[in-house]
Amino acid sequence: MSQSFRKVHAVTGMKDTLPDSSAQWEHLEDIVRKWLAAYGYRNMRTPVLEHTRLFARGIGEVTDIVEKEMYSFTDALNGEHLTMRPEFTAGMVRATIEHNLLYDRPQRVYALGPVFRHEKPQRGRYRQFHQIDVEALGMAGPDIDAEMIIMLSRLWKLLGLNDIRLELNSLGQADERKAHREALVQHLERHIDVLDEEARRRMHSNPLRVLDTKNPAMQDMANSAPRLFDFLGEQSLAHFEGVRKRLDDAGIAYQLNPRLVRGLDYYNLTVFEWVTDRLGAQGTVCGGGRYDGLIELLGGKPAPAVGFAIGMERLLDLWDQTAPFQAPPECQIYMVHQSDDAQREAAKLAEALRDDGFKVIVHPGSASFKSQFKRADASGAQVAVILGEDELKNRQVSVKWLRQTDDTQAQQEVIPMDRLVEELKQKV
Ligand code: ATP
Ligand code: MG
Repeated sequence: MSQSFRKVHAVTGMKDTLPDSSAQWEHLEDIVRKWLAAYGYRNMRTPVLEHTRLFARGIGEVTDIVEKEMYSFTDALNGEHLTMRPEFTAGMVRATIEHNLLYDRPQRVYALGPVFRHEKPQRGRYRQFHQIDVEALGMAGPDIDAEMIIMLSRLWKLLGLNDIRLELNSLGQADERKAHREALVQHLERHIDVLDEEARRRMHSNPLRVLDTKNPAMQDMANSAPRLFDFLGEQSLAHFEGVRKRLDDAGIAYQLNPRLVRGLDYYNLTVFEWVTDRLGAQGTVCGGGRYDGLIELLGGKPAPAVGFAIGMERLLDLWDQTAPFQAPPECQIYMVHQSDDAQREAAKLAEALRDDGFKVIVHPGSASFKSQFKRADASGAQVAVILGEDELKNRQVSVKWLRQTDDTQAQQEVIPMDRLVEELKQKV
């Protein structure tokens, strides 16, 4: 007795990437890998699953991510508390400590891959999304902060993006933030009547984050709040100045945004975001900054670090608006054949063509010429190579040009089988 099966759909907020758009992902990934290599960054891969306490500690207990966005569960088989990474940095730092990666020198590393956050799905906001994550570990100076921003501006140029602007801030050091925080809490207490519920809940646990509010009723209060910037000491100011000078050297424009705090606890000194108006409400394409305390916080020997993450879905959305993507053809050469023997010969020829680097599809199974040509055309191939009975008998093939160019005036020609590879090497 067969029972009908209730169709399964993808999990809410998690998307399939079908072949045509996957080609665009791969194209972007190729560009990104070359771009990163040009600055000496090397790939590093860490697991999707980590122990939950890594993120609770690394990102901070009272952040959006840890409070309400993590896919955390207890492993039914052994009782471990695990979380699907909501970002890369904590895992990258864990691996750096675990393998003593900073033992003899600093490291430039990057990772590409999926991250998971249980958010309300909408344009630019998914529950599985992808990041390009880049970390410079063991490097303290403003030169590296600036280099990261300069390299990002190179990526936008490589992709032809210009509607993307840089926002910059400095969060200073822990003691400076502490002094500011006390002043800020006092400010919030004075304006308690305009604070919404979330702000009241956070005003003591994470008062800086309260200023990041989008609530219109709280804007005046946020604008008049004491600025962290006014609490920065000489060294923090010098670091920031060092970054700004280098951005000026490179001709990179930026906007100082004293309210830019980023949603993760580990940042200090330089923080930045790249934002665009072309993506609706989710306009932040890239966010990053310095996190000099994180390695020590997670049990490593103290070492400075700076990094950023790009949201790949948002980047692809923006890129596609600027330079609409054309999926490449499935193959260059499509082999059409008329009998079992012809199919076998076609398969052999296809292998010979692949030896020379051609992309070749041999029509699967048997079908009329007409329907094989339809498939050949749909594949986007430049040429169809035809093996009919006559051709096979005479050890010949017909070559039919499917897309007219200047070189291929003659629509179709018959050539000896053993000259096929040479012929196509000259023309395809
Ligand atoms: P947002 O303010 O948009 O929630 P965030 O501060 O939480 O962003 P980060 O943790 O800095 O984001 O992550 C880096 C980048 O990852 C973001 O700038 C964005 O491009 C992308 N990103 C973040 N959350 C999502 C999501 N749910 N879906 C798709 N992309 C995302
Ligand atoms: Mg977020």
